[in-house]
Amino acid sequence: MQSDLFGTGETPATESTSASAFMPATNSLDALREAARVCRGCDLYAHATQTVFGVGPEDARLMFVGEQPGDMEDRQGSPFVGPAGKLLRGALSEAGIDPALVYITNAVKHFKFIERGKQRIHASPKRIEIVSCTPWLEAEIRALQPTLVVALGATAGQALLGTKFRVTQSRGVLVRADFAENVIATIHPSAILRADPSVRDEQHRAFVADLKLVRETLERLLA
Ligand code: URA
Repeated sequence: MQSDLFGTGETPATESTSASAFMPATNSLDALREAARVCRGCDLYAHATQTVFGVGPEDARLMFVGEQPGDMEDRQGSPFVGPAGKLLRGALSEAGIDPALVYITNAVKHFKFIERGKQRIHASPKRIEIVSCTPWLEAEIRALQPTLVVALGATAGQALLGTKFRVTQSRGVLVRADFAENVIATIHPSAILRADPSVRDEQHRAFVADLKLVRETLERLLA
């Protein structure tokens, strides 16, 4: 059964609508990245340019999980290379976290969009697409064994912690997920980019404060 790309109907995840059918025999990041290139676990591959897999050092203690690649990420094949990534890296530095030491990935590995003229406008992934893609995220976590996983926004939070997750309720709280021992959530950097200019600075400061909490939590977990 195929999922319905732009419709409203949800279909249950099956072998044909899950990345699990594409998992390689070995769980190294290189093997996973190679296997994910040809993933057909849901329909999103059909319109995207390429799979956008996670990037970062194999010994990273900290993993950040976003929603899905955007237009620039889809073209370049790397997560968070556009405006949200620039904001994220700047905020990490402000919080005393070296962006080069962090592994960054997304809950969904293909760009979902609607076309408006020549523009490709971000479309939110449906639950079936998040669930279908989660085996890649689980495998990345298994391969990397990060000490702390940070969910950026609702889609990442729901991929890690289930549909009951709400950023407003869980922001800054250290919790355990089924496949990650330590998870903490904050807002998605795109929310700051989209915010009304009158509250943008305040939201930026709160985001940096969350990232400082992430650094302190990591230091505590590693002590
Ligand atoms: N937003 C995301 O969630 N991920 C990206 O890679 C880029 C923008």
